[in-house]
Amino acid sequence: MDKKTIKDIDVYNKKVLLRVDFNVPIKDGVITDDNRIKEELPTIKYLLDNGAKLIIMSHLGRPEGEVNLKYSLKPTSVRLGEYLGKEIMFADDCIGKEAKEKANSLNAGDVLMLENLRFHAEEEENEKGFCEKLASLADVYVNDAFGTAHRKHASTYGVAKLLPNAVGFLIEKELSMISDTIANPKRPFVGILGGAKVSDKITIVESLLNKVDVLIIGGAMAYTFLSAMNFNMGNSKVETEMIGEAQRLINLAQEKNVQLLLPVDHVIANNFENPTIIKNTLNPSIPNDFLGMDIGKLTIKVYKKAIKHAKTVIWNGPMGVFENKNFENGTKQIAKALAKTKATTIVGGGDSAAAVIKFGYAKKITHISTGGGASLKLFEGKVLPAVDVIANK
Ligand code: AMP
Repeated sequence: MDKKTIKDIDVYNKKVLLRVDFNVPIKDGVITDDNRIKEELPTIKYLLDNGAKLIIMSHLGRPEGEVNLKYSLKPTSVRLGEYLGKEIMFADDCIGKEAKEKANSLNAGDVLMLENLRFHAEEEENEKGFCEKLASLADVYVNDAFGTAHRKHASTYGVAKLLPNAVGFLIEKELSMISDTIANPKRPFVGILGGAKVSDKITIVESLLNKVDVLIIGGAMAYTFLSAMNFNMGNSKVETEMIGEAQRLINLAQEKNVQLLLPVDHVIANNFENPTIIKNTLNPSIPNDFLGMDIGKLTIKVYKKAIKHAKTVIWNGPMGVFENKNFENGTKQIAKALAKTKATTIVGGGDSAAAVIKFGYAKKITHISTGGGASLKLFEGKVLPAVDVIANK
């Protein structure tokens, strides 16, 4: 990687402003999944072992630019303190007098955590004055928040322009696992896309058609492609305004000699909310009064075979409405196929990462990304703004 990492900078006795992604789920003040905190420990420990005076900042939830203690980062600072076995100082605002005084009181090896950045609307606006206030707290800036690296916010972008900077180990790992694999894939290279909407994924389909040998499509987005091929989709979620685009992408796949795999059968139901009739279709068509909810049995076989022959697989988006047990099988079987293969397997963040973890296959996957939107951008081969702004080695 050509960007500076924390190994390339001197942090001894320096105030280091570290942007992390501690956007963890919290219910009634209790953290229900602290994986994002655990993922960050190597960077935090390295900085402390090397004598940094550490100032940690993050966002949590969507407080919409207002102070809302439901979204306080306090519980994350307590949990971090437990992992590090040390007291963590906390400032009730990420900028201002208290934050500044506490930052200036730090000794090497001390940690201060700042309150939620998104209590200020200026954070997401990347507002200049706010960037300057954040930067005034520290001597050095480190970004390790992969989950927000595709955003140009004050704490991920603007502040980096004002201080000597580097990325942490988590961003370094995500970049090397995802970007390096996609730049130099072992072939056959199979891409798997699923999820709700074609409109969200047009650019990624298009860019993957330039890279992969086989592109597998599942989830509701498949119905728009099948509509373009004149199959009846009943009441399924078809984006009619995207049918033309889907047709263009089907033609592009042919031009590029990419094998485009679409469902050959489906699990369908009579109602989305209260399904009382559930069945497997016999072909790619969906009868009127029914909707597609998951890929069917035969489709699973076809997709598994393609995965079995692959040397590199990347996956983003569920194959069906996997939140409902009746319609989780397609997603589960794809997760299982990824776990079984010896190929390099990369799972993008978000729903597919959650599914792989939920079904118990996480340990068998080469890399599960911690960032949804950011990993998709890397799948597209794009540069993340928050990484781009960091100095080169
Ligand atoms: P995305 O955020 O685009 O990756 O989409 C994820 C969502 O797509 C999940 O909440 C799934 O329930 C939904 N999804 C997947 N397959 C279907 C389907 N056949 N019908 C409706 N929603 C679906």
